[in-house]
Amino acid sequence: MPPEQVPTTRPATSRGDRPAPGGKPKRLLLLIPTTTYRTEDFVEAARRLEVDLVIASERPNVMASEFPDHLLSLPFNDPDAAARQVEVLARTRPIHAVVPVDDTTTVVGAAIAERLGLPSANSVAAVSATRNKLRMREILARAGVPGPDHVAFSVTDDSRAAARRVPYPCVLKPLVLSASRGVIRADDEGEFIAAFRRIAAILADPEVQALGEGADRILVERFIPGAEVALEGLLNHGELNTLALFDKPDPLDGPFFEETIYVTPSRLPAETQRAIQVCAARAATALGLQDGPVHAEVRLDAEGPWMLEIAARSIGGLCSRTLRFGTGLTLEEIILRHALGLPIESLEREGRAAGVMMIPIPKGGILEGVEGLAEARAVPLIEDVTISAHKGEEIVPLPEGHRYLGFIFSRADTPAETEAALRQAHACLRFVIR
Ligand code: ADP
Ligand code: CA
Repeated sequence: MPPEQVPTTRPATSRGDRPAPGGKPKRLLLLIPTTTYRTEDFVEAARRLEVDLVIASERPNVMASEFPDHLLSLPFNDPDAAARQVEVLARTRPIHAVVPVDDTTTVVGAAIAERLGLPSANSVAAVSATRNKLRMREILARAGVPGPDHVAFSVTDDSRAAARRVPYPCVLKPLVLSASRGVIRADDEGEFIAAFRRIAAILADPEVQALGEGADRILVERFIPGAEVALEGLLNHGELNTLALFDKPDPLDGPFFEETIYVTPSRLPAETQRAIQVCAARAATALGLQDGPVHAEVRLDAEGPWMLEIAARSIGGLCSRTLRFGTGLTLEEIILRHALGLPIESLEREGRAAGVMMIPIPKGGILEGVEGLAEARAVPLIEDVTISAHKGEEIVPLPEGHRYLGFIFSRADTPAETEAALRQAHACLRFVIR
């Protein structure tokens, strides 16, 4: 058994609170932001379980009046108000689990779960800390989890003075964004000042300002060189089960940090993989995360693993489609089953290697078309190529952008074959961007 598949703890199993035979199905509340890529996969997973599904979004759904018990709108940016609203509904239609599907709904999910007194949920404090990179750094540093030295500035601070106070190379980043948006490496004072201004402009966006606390600050960290991995895990009563460890074979050296290929199982030595798992488990414990999915990013240098960040959610974009467990369970089914306290037959990933490429953005502009899709899909070992940007959409590269062009999926006997197939399929594609 490859080391990544050795469960670090017992698998998550039923808490014995399933409905009595013939009883009513449990009711599940999915928190689906309009910007997510995950709607289809989570709704499909819910459909495969016998649950009464309620979907909440931050904007009213056009069908809401037809399905008032199943479609809600909730103020995701006001967790207390959202929790009060759900509490009222739950008096007549009890809710047994709340699952936030993405970064932007983890805090409101925790607030609702706390108010309803649901089991299998994280505290608001723990989840909030994962959404603020400075607070996360402080908590991890206090707990002795290895992380880069850091210092934070306000966007109104003098960037020239700040540039003289930091070590080089360093990484500047917003506290509250994700998907590498606004993350920039600087090798000297000139680059620092330019990066600082560029991030300040991103943070001036009203939608970013609406994220509240921390939206007007910039975190600066020492740049940690080396390979990077992502650990997908499931916490069960505070114990971390590693679901998959992904290598990121394309170097992430900046100045921007566009994610491209993820391949699992990891090709790192078993001992290194274990050290990564220990590092992620310590980070989760330090933050007070207890239950549900986590996605951690770890850098490796000669000293060992360094925790970049750990989020209280599963892998983003459509990347979860690389994962299958036991006899074919999806990651979304695992997450929903865990939240509902339903049994999970196995947390062991299928034996084959799998990978995804988040298709890199070649340049900014309006997407006019994509050529070579049929050829890309015909590449051996390619499972699917999905273009998520649509024709006419404005494509914005990093560091300002935060939408994906699309995803390429591959499954093969080995990680090397998976990676090669992804690269070959990508080489077939041509994006016409005006
Ligand atoms: P986000 O939440 O936007 O993903 P991260 O802090 O995870 O922000 O940074 C995105 C990427 O930038 C990381 O995956 C990593 O490749 C790179 N990065 C961030 N901080 C550092 C650092 N201190 N040293 C080296 N690389 C970093
Ligand atoms: Ca990240």
